[in-house]
Amino acid sequence: MTAADQASSPLYATYARAELAFTRGEGVWLETAAGERYLDLMGGIAVNAFGHAHPHLVEALKRQAEKLWHVSNIFEIPGQRELGRRLCEASFAEAVFFTNSGAEAMECAIKTARRYHYAKGAPEKHRIVTFEGAFHGRTLATIAAGGQEKYLQGFGPKVEGFDQVPLGDREALAAAIGPETAAILIEPIQGEGGVRPVPHDFLRFIRALCDERGLLMMLDEIQCGMGRTGRLFAHEWAGVTPDLMAVAKAIGGGFPLGACLATEAASEAMVVGTHGSTYGGNPLAMAVGNAVLDLVLAPDFLPEVRRKGLLFKQKLASLTDTYPDQILGVRGEGLMLGLKCAGAPGPMVELLRQHGVLTVAAGDDVVRVLPALIISEAEMDEALARMEAALAAAAGSSAAA
Ligand SMILES: *Cc1c(COP(=O)(O)O)cnc(C)c1O
Repeated sequence: MTAADQASSPLYATYARAELAFTRGEGVWLETAAGERYLDLMGGIAVNAFGHAHPHLVEALKRQAEKLWHVSNIFEIPGQRELGRRLCEASFAEAVFFTNSGAEAMECAIKTARRYHYAKGAPEKHRIVTFEGAFHGRTLATIAAGGQEKYLQGFGPKVEGFDQVPLGDREALAAAIGPETAAILIEPIQGEGGVRPVPHDFLRFIRALCDERGLLMMLDEIQCGMGRTGRLFAHEWAGVTPDLMAVAKAIGGGFPLGACLATEAASEAMVVGTHGSTYGGNPLAMAVGNAVLDLVLAPDFLPEVRRKGLLFKQKLASLTDTYPDQILGVRGEGLMLGLKCAGAPGPMVELLRQHGVLTVAAGDDVVRVLPALIISEAEMDEALARMEAALAAAAGSSAAA
């Protein structure tokens, strides 16, 4: 695409798009119309957990497409009950609300937390404490929750009721809790913020604080959940459970789907008429969601993600040894990995793309590696070889300069 094409684009200019379009995909591979193949290590930003065109998901979507797409939540949707039951059985949750996206799942969690205190006779408790570096979505409430100036600027008054403290700061967190506080919201591993795992003892501290002060613990596992870290949900590593949790991205494997998971106590106040969605949990989404869960919950699947996550982390760490000026470190859990770069991540993402590897930037200096959870060892080796070639080329050209 030329600059002139972009200037005449009918689309909002909100995305800094690469000049690259794909026409098909299979597993961790993406192909352009010209037949160029790229190794996809970003998976649609942690969405394509089973890669592209996974036969089990394709089959589930096709089968449902021939029967029924959409009916409205005015009617029973058996697939919703089934997926809801299975998610509850596999987690802390006792109730689920389905949405079409992550931000909507967060909105549902925020409304649920406020309504919980309202129904308990404490309507003043509406404030939610969040953490610096957070990302919770792009709706008006979720940009307020994320608290990032670059996303808030120019969109009118920030939605009221969010207080932000530095990540990991116990004193600031305790001090931020007041008579109007309803909940504490955190990503167990910050994604957009730069693949920053929250120490497990800090998550346990939040749980204890919530119990002590009568607050709800809310997790955003939109990016780190659904098997990404080698457990179904990332908070399991810390041995704590939340009261509310937003999930999306991988839960639909590429079909737009999100969910708010809640304990019975936290969700009790969400009675008839308090919330709704036209599409949320429609039969097509439920067919795919159930098929994704078949794969995630298959015996040995999550242990295999843990094994491959460790292996890939070791392999990527070798880049730090060979190119210490460019790659300063590797962090993350399971297959949610981040390469800390010497500078802004954009040029590194671009360099890797020129060598046929797709990654995505995060934070000030991190390149995220979020491959499909089904990536093979041979594909990891291929990825590494391409990354090494890219870094060698960059090192060579900077030495020549
Ligand atoms: C992607 C993401 C969101 C927003 O999800 P959308 O589907 O884009 O609305 C929220 N929180 C986290 C942690 C995310 O990674």
